[in-house]
Amino acid sequence: MAYVNMIEMMNQATKGRYAIGAFNFFNYLTARTIIETCEERKSPVILQTSVKTVRQLGTAHIMDMVLPLMKKTSVPVALHLDHCKETEVAKQCMDAGWSSIMYDGSSFAFEENVAKTKEIVAYAKKKDISVEGELGAIVGVEEDIVVDDHAGSLADVDLSVRFTAETGVDAFAPAIGTAHGMYKGKPKLDYERFSDIRGRVKTNLVVHGGTGLADDVFRRLIQIGASKINVSTAIKMAYFRGMKASDGLTEPLQADRMMEKEVQEVVTHCIGVFGSVGKA
Ligand SMILES: [Zn+2]
Repeated sequence: MAYVNMIEMMNQATKGRYAIGAFNFFNYLTARTIIETCEERKSPVILQTSVKTVRQLGTAHIMDMVLPLMKKTSVPVALHLDHCKETEVAKQCMDAGWSSIMYDGSSFAFEENVAKTKEIVAYAKKKDISVEGELGAIVGVEEDIVVDDHAGSLADVDLSVRFTAETGVDAFAPAIGTAHGMYKGKPKLDYERFSDIRGRVKTNLVVHGGTGLADDVFRRLIQIGASKINVSTAIKMAYFRGMKASDGLTEPLQADRMMEKEVQEVVTHCIGVFGSVGKA
């Protein structure tokens, strides 16, 4: 059984200077395509659900859908909850079988973010579940979470040291200028800040907002020390490309194959650039 939390895979990635792709899925087709594409290329993978997906499909249905896939695959796969702002939803997913949780307390003041994240870490530790925390605000639109550019603030380096030490999170997502959704104009990333954080924080680092970043940007972030990169919007766009291309067809299975092919291409490209191919 290759169903794991993301601690060991991120440790290996940080050591080996590559990153694990964390891809959002929202139905069986996307979950299966992501896992099978990674299995074919022997890449570890993180399957992510948004809170919105959890709300719409329910934890039991999601587990029924992905658990057989995760148990069957030969590559390490983690089931991760992305950007959860509600303690109750996080606990619900941990009880249902998620192996990893992101608690996003970035909209709270520092002390409150630390306190709330610590509570999740304590709950998760008992179940061998990994926890990701966030500091600063990652701008853009992700599901129901909207952070406008002006309100967005980058993660402070000293506070990053304190946050990771005090909360004991397994993965840390500092805001460094990446954004959710599609970038408006050229992304402005603070590499120096990311590098400073890498130098002073022991925790594995996560980059959000992978959609729309150039390959050399990914490589630079991985070289600095990113070991998990989130890709959500690109999966959704691929799904719709396949759907549009299937317009006029009368065979649903053929339409499914077109959506699969598009999703497969995005995942293949990402794991190639992230360097995780052959690491499982
Ligand atoms: Zn994010």
